[in-house]
Amino acid sequence: MYLSKFQLKNFRNYSDSTIELGTGLNYFVGENGQGKSNFLEAVYALSIGKSFRTSSIRSLIKFDNNSTDSFVRGIANQDNSVLDLSLILNLDKDSSRTTKKYLFNGSDISSIDFIGKLNVVLFEARDLNIIIGNPAERRKFLDIHISQQDHSYLRALQRYNKVLTSRNKVLKEIKLRKSTRIELEFWTEKIVEDGSIIFKERMKRLNQIRDETIKVFSNLVRNDERLEISFRPSFRDFGTDITIERIHSLYNQISDKEIAAGTTLIGPHRDDFEIFVNNKSSSEFSSRGQIRTITLALKLGEANVISKNKNQAPILALDDVLSELDERRRKTVMDYISDYEQILLTAPNSDLINYDLKKSDVFKVHSGNIIQN
Ligand code: ATP
Ligand code: MG
Repeated sequence: MYLSKFQLKNFRNYSDSTIELGTGLNYFVGENGQGKSNFLEAVYALSIGKSFRTSSIRSLIKFDNNSTDSFVRGIANQDNSVLDLSLILNLDKDSSRTTKKYLFNGSDISSIDFIGKLNVVLFEARDLNIIIGNPAERRKFLDIHISQQDHSYLRALQRYNKVLTSRNKVLKEIKLRKSTRIELEFWTEKIVEDGSIIFKERMKRLNQIRDETIKVFSNLVRNDERLEISFRPSFRDFGTDITIERIHSLYNQISDKEIAAGTTLIGPHRDDFEIFVNNKSSSEFSSRGQIRTITLALKLGEANVISKNKNQAPILALDDVLSELDERRRKTVMDYISDYEQILLTAPNSDLINYDLKKSDVFKVHSGNIIQN
């Protein structure tokens, strides 16, 4: 799958820019603050239906523009078919209300149906938080990965989050004698149901990512550094023989504790995973450059899983991936990624890559304009 055409209209610092893209490497070079990340944000928004940087639609619409018309649109080619995807953003100046709309091949569709039509794997600076950040960052990484491929997972996750809020409320109310254990049982049944779907799916998918990431990592480092990924689920010791009944009995065992704490103490909202290099936890012991390499391996591992599951390579969107890497590693990364069908790669200057570029593959990004050579 690859994007052949892309348009940004009143999105971030872009007024109206249209570019034509080719397969292979597309290289976007420009100084700081010119719009490189904004462009990749727009591309990724067509994949996951929202920005990876903000939940505010308002921040995405170009400041001080008089039109109400803001959108990003991509034409993608997949096998012999053409996908036409738009994310339309609207700000009503009188009421200050914002809306989002999704168009697929000319028809309105829901956000859930939109997600994952375009397969993009993004790497950007904040992704280092998957390694060094808190567990919520790692859960988010897994959730986006799975949701792009499995909408029933996304629905279970959305239900789970609502159920969790309600269940926590009831736990607090029981403590204050405003609610009953019968009420709690109602929510426990629901949390077990969706929780087990999420747990199983995360275990299966993380395993796939693990296998691929280990392979990519050994390709990138080419020495004896060995990577390992371990799932740390909240439902520990369950393995694959997990049953709804066993999870339910776990909740029953700790209900007194949960009432005392006034919150749900176990479940996928407490899942985590850990990454090791040579048996040492990478969040604690890896250097910046190593963390970057591990994160990149994880993202490329994810891309390989999507390729296998969907029988089609996702688009790689790599924001400033080469900085902080030494020259040898930069070259190894470039060699490795060049096999993908389409790569969108940004950098502040062209010295970073010593790679044989065709002129047509280079795009200059300057104050909200993308100029094709
Ligand atoms: P760097 O090399 O530093 O990462 P970049 O090229 O990736 O730079 P971007 O993050 O894409 O830069 O663009 C940042 C610019 O976009 C900033 O100057 C910011 O003020 C501007 N910007 C962000 N949101 C909007 C908006 N809604 N309207 C207009 N400009 C915006
Ligand atoms: Mg940037």
